[in-house]
Amino acid sequence: MRATFMYGPGDVRVENAPDPVLRQPTDAIVRIVRACICGSDLHPYHNIPASEQGTPMGHEFLGVVEELGSDVSGLRRGDLVVAPFAWADNTCDFCREGLHTSCRHGGFWAAGGIGGGQAEAIRVPQAQGTLVKLPVGEDSALLPSLLTLSDVYGTGYHAAKMAKVNPRTTVTVIGDGAVGLMAVLSAKRLGAERIILMGRHKDRTDLGRDFGATDVVAERGEEGIAKVRELTGGDGTHTVLEAVGYMSAYEMAVGVVRPGGVISRVGVPQYEDAPIGFGSLFGPNITLNGGPAPVRAYIDELLPDVLDGTVEPGRVFDRTIGLDEVPDGYRAMNNREALKVLVRP
Ligand SMILES: [Zn+2]
Repeated sequence: MRATFMYGPGDVRVENAPDPVLRQPTDAIVRIVRACICGSDLHPYHNIPASEQGTPMGHEFLGVVEELGSDVSGLRRGDLVVAPFAWADNTCDFCREGLHTSCRHGGFWAAGGIGGGQAEAIRVPQAQGTLVKLPVGEDSALLPSLLTLSDVYGTGYHAAKMAKVNPRTTVTVIGDGAVGLMAVLSAKRLGAERIILMGRHKDRTDLGRDFGATDVVAERGEEGIAKVRELTGGDGTHTVLEAVGYMSAYEMAVGVVRPGGVISRVGVPQYEDAPIGFGSLFGPNITLNGGPAPVRAYIDELLPDVLDGTVEPGRVFDRTIGLDEVPDGYRAMNNREALKVLVRP
């Protein structure tokens, strides 16, 4: 099969790789129908250590079940399924608490001998717990929106849930990438009436307005903080959904959160140390939470609105490419020429 590997910063190659085979009775083999490139794939694109063997890439995909291990029930060959970005048994105590990213028998794609989703096929561990059957065909026009359930929609939703967004909370979303826009859509779905989107790419913030943003702040840093404060009578917003991951975004979050409020982070932090003391979080009683989204916990809840067209999260895809064009797809996203790139293997 063909599969994507990263060999070093900016060095993405699509190569021949062995076809995946069943290894455990709990495995399935899925032929990938749609995959995509994630904003978080750009972090290794900038700083992955160079390697001889390459690292498989991709953690978002939907596809057709081709083979099933003997212990997998509830799925059949030919089923169209979506996979969350972390695989999990969906039965352990953490999974039952809705924290599938900490599953006792789970893990992440493209790591520990498991392949990546930017490929023609993949071995799915814990297939029964991981895969969710989709009640549409592989020619459905809903595939882009359904694919967002593997990561960005669930991740944006996680940001809003962890912040306890509701009709009485005002919201600032930091970042106009796909996750930020999904955080806007999620905050709207949870009833927020005031959603301030911080982003400076007009085509993206326009889509954010379609998804429910009521205000857009293009300024960044101290200027951006001042603008959000001005829009909120000086107070800031009850919740801040941080969908970037850089220190500058954390500093903006601290700057725009209202006393007693919540900063919910879903951008993968590119820092280990950040202010949490009296002048930042402690003094104003700020709650800091968030983390990798257990998107498997949200798929069942988010799926109906996608199927009936109430929401169209797939609008975040603005470019579609074949598998061999994946290196160009990384370049386009890195150069901000594309918001999110859909891959048709
Ligand atoms: Zn589990």
